[in-house]
Amino acid sequence: MRTTAGHRIVLGADDSPVILHVPHASQVIPADARAGLLLGDEALAMELAHMTDAHTDVIADRAAAASDRTPWSLVNLLSRLVIDPERFPDDREDMRAVGMGAVYTRTSHGQLLRSDDDAAAEDDLLARWYWPYGQAMTDLVDARLAATGRVTVIDVHSYPSQRLPYEVGGKVRPAVCLGTHSFHTADWLLDAGREAFASGGSIAVNTPFAGCYVPLKHHGKEPRVSALMVEIRRDIYMVEPGGQPTNGIAAVIASLTRLIDAVTAPPVNAQSGTPSVRFTGRDA
Ligand SMILES: [Zn+2]
Repeated sequence: MRTTAGHRIVLGADDSPVILHVPHASQVIPADARAGLLLGDEALAMELAHMTDAHTDVIADRAAAASDRTPWSLVNLLSRLVIDPERFPDDREDMRAVGMGAVYTRTSHGQLLRSDDDAAAEDDLLARWYWPYGQAMTDLVDARLAATGRVTVIDVHSYPSQRLPYEVGGKVRPAVCLGTHSFHTADWLLDAGREAFASGGSIAVNTPFAGCYVPLKHHGKEPRVSALMVEIRRDIYMVEPGGQPTNGIAAVIASLTRLIDAVTAPPVNAQSGTPSVRFTGRDA
């Protein structure tokens, strides 16, 4: 395992093309980033409870350990309230409209989280955490491409059973939401996600959350990089908000393990990348 202050990379098998990405599991906020937040301690604790994908790091670690061929993992060690590595750093990001671009300025309930008029502070956070994190993920994807010729990023998230005011997606709350990208998510990959989580309850695609993480370097350009987001509704596996895991976590880990195993050895026509597969046509 390699650890920096901002993230850890868990080494996988030499011949694994799978990367688990865990961006939202941590509640850690460095002191200088905390100083820029306008919430008192109690309000911040509540915001973290709502917004943290609690225990998704444990889910990813245990699924990795249980899989036939160990995938690689990149885990964010900082809270998404420091920077959100999944958001575009510029006007491409729709969530900027609700104060939730790469650097959040609003809470999940629309309160002011930090100054929305301090470009220097935002740039500083991006320089310190966002760009190094993106580079680490880019390097990891490139290394896997060089080693195995293709990569599948599985983006591991969870979401609250009660809709939060900041949300812009649909109102249905499935047990599992699978997020796809029109260029990076082939049918075989979405099918693998559906199959792996079939026993876990209802499944929806791109609602209430859409899309999946691909590094900017490869985004929309590198067809050998495929990706799928998995969003588990939190009441399936934990006490909300921000509480302990429940026994339900075992089934979630088993489903994610099935998905890792399935995409480590995908259908024959998917082995060479995209030319022989159709895209889903769903825009994320
Ligand atoms: Zn998340």
